[in-house]
Amino acid sequence: MLYKRSSALFKEAQDVIPGGVNSPVRAFKAVGGTPIFAKSAKGAYVFDEDDNQYIDYINSWGPMILGHAHKPVVDAVVEKAKLGTSFGMPTEIETKIAELAISMVPNIDKIRFVNSGTEACMSAVRLARGFTGKEKIIKFAGCYHGHSDAFLIQAGSGAVTFGSPNSPGVTEGTAKDTLLARYNDIDNVEALIKANADEIACIILEPVAGNMGCIPPKDNFLQKLRTLCDAHNILLIFDEVMTGFRLAKGGAQELFNVDADIVCFGKVIGGGLPVGAFATRNEIMNHLAPLGAVYQAGTLSGNPLAMAAGLAMLTEINLDDELFTRLAEKTEYLHKGMTKILQEHNIDHVINRVGSMISVHFCKDEVYDFETSAKGNNASFKAFFHGMLNEGVYIAPSAFETWFLCDALSYEDLDKTIEAVSRVAKTL
Ligand code: PMP
Repeated sequence: MLYKRSSALFKEAQDVIPGGVNSPVRAFKAVGGTPIFAKSAKGAYVFDEDDNQYIDYINSWGPMILGHAHKPVVDAVVEKAKLGTSFGMPTEIETKIAELAISMVPNIDKIRFVNSGTEACMSAVRLARGFTGKEKIIKFAGCYHGHSDAFLIQAGSGAVTFGSPNSPGVTEGTAKDTLLARYNDIDNVEALIKANADEIACIILEPVAGNMGCIPPKDNFLQKLRTLCDAHNILLIFDEVMTGFRLAKGGAQELFNVDADIVCFGKVIGGGLPVGAFATRNEIMNHLAPLGAVYQAGTLSGNPLAMAAGLAMLTEINLDDELFTRLAEKTEYLHKGMTKILQEHNIDHVINRVGSMISVHFCKDEVYDFETSAKGNNASFKAFFHGMLNEGVYIAPSAFETWFLCDALSYEDLDKTIEAVSRVAKTL
């Protein structure tokens, strides 16, 4: 593959945009080489500025669950745009998407729309603090909840890929209110709660972690967190920015049958436009402005184009009872195909998968938290990534990220991917 135009565009971008990108992981720093510049995408494929075609396993980091440029979503946005792109006034479509989301997700009475996953998580924590009157929060090493200050403490995703899980610029005062726990380690959480009795407002986590590779909750971790939260008057926040409307209509709450107190959304809920949301029951939401004193706002929140894209996306997801089964079956097919090949080549690896989220780790032992994920062989991952890219398969450019499958992927695409893995495996 040639990346001539992408290289030139990257060079030009670096003069005017920090690192040439508007979100760090796009810079390919973890894997080296030139980031490919996207020109267009359709269905399961993305095309770059050099007209290379890739089977896309990133799907804009999750939102394009039905595939790129999905007609009902694109049509909805185009039609809405003709009527004006922003009003700063309430619009009917905001209520429509809210009603639909609330009908799909268990345990929520009201939902507030924002512009990103970061905003959703940041606002959820503020609401939890306002509601409980307590200040500290517990987050898990390797979980990423966006780039707001309170979360950049041992964060996953790009933060760890770029070697700054604790970002400079976050004050000590902020950092001291974020307590860190090990994912899947309930004893560790319990000890933290005991050591900070009556001070913890909330526990926030990705119910399936996707920002240290894909890490499922094990040994009823979510249920145990629920029990601990109930016993200590702590709110449980599920950051479902990745898992919401992806693992099930009702997200991880439905899949694992555990109720969260506040749920955060992003990605799928916006159909590829900048949308996030947080949702909870009335008892808690009544504390949010303008009903209550906890302040949160946004000029572009509930933007009509974003709401149109999100509504079109959720409507399709809601009507398709087979979608999540199809996605899980395709992901399992890929999982089995890759396992067979990597085993044949005696390559140490662990593949983690939940629904349509999957990640490959080049290590021997089970990957169940940040530490075990960090043991992966990065040289092997880099070689694998570039090998796959050259084969026309676009996977996440860091071992601390998850791949997201979309419904537009065919079994032929999956077979092509597995064949690519078999050629790349020979070179590892
Ligand atoms: N939470 C999770 C679980 C995420 O994966 C992300 C982004 N990948 C965020 C929050 C932040 O979302 P955004 O990038 O839209 O601010």
